[in-house]
Amino acid sequence: MTALKLEKINKSFGQVHVLKDIDLEVTEGEFIVFVGPSGCGKSTLLRVIAGLEDATSGTISIGGRDVTATPPAKRGIAMVFQSYALYPHLDVTGNMALGLKQAGETKATIEERIAMAAKMLSLEDYLKRRPAELSGGQRQRVAIGRAIVRKPELFLFDEPLSNLDAALRMATRVEIARLHRELGASMIYVTHDQTEAMTLADRIVVLRDGRVEQVGSPMQLYNDPDNQFVAGFLGAPS
Ligand code: ADP
Ligand code: MG
Repeated sequence: MTALKLEKINKSFGQVHVLKDIDLEVTEGEFIVFVGPSGCGKSTLLRVIAGLEDATSGTISIGGRDVTATPPAKRGIAMVFQSYALYPHLDVTGNMALGLKQAGETKATIEERIAMAAKMLSLEDYLKRRPAELSGGQRQRVAIGRAIVRKPELFLFDEPLSNLDAALRMATRVEIARLHRELGASMIYVTHDQTEAMTLADRIVVLRDGRVEQVGSPMQLYNDPDNQFVAGFLGAPS
């Protein structure tokens, strides 16, 4: 089953052509990593998939449904940002509950989903704390929890670990890999960290100046990069 299909996605901001004829098919349960230089369009592509930006042209389908014109809340997607984007005045429970309340879920469902996410992320003891009373790593786990409770078909992560120190980054990376196995959901993950890309990805998509430069498994790209640009991103010997 195809989880996500992008066909000829273009995105311009005024005169600036940011995404150029992007085609991509993601299989259900696949872990896809986007890499590429700063400014090449990774965040814009995630935002277009999420519906936070409209594509200038092209079509997007999720789980076989054309969602090109579907609002973000109805796409079956949850996005996790580098900046966490938590609500400072709400405690952990409140942050995780908000999207579910907006979606009209019952109180019982909301409680059950939050309990599940808190257990998966070891947040049980922190549910009554506000973001300011949490460490950076705990805040990022709340942001991930807020995505999990919505049971999305597709998770989008935009450099979720880049504000964490090296030790915590590794621990959280392992946790994300475990969540991927347990949830069986499809994930698209943007990073500039080679280790994250190589260890998490089923397939890596290398983006360059708004285009797909090469797509392949970590080993394919490492052993058989199409060019120096791709090799440079994955640290292959040149
Ligand atoms: P990346 O995440 O790969 O670093 P972005 O997707 O953030 O790159 O940005 C790609 C390009 O699109 C950049 O040149 C950026 O300045 C431009 N861009 C992104 N968002 C906007 C916007 N809302 N308005 C105008 N230009 C934008
Ligand atoms: Mg970005």
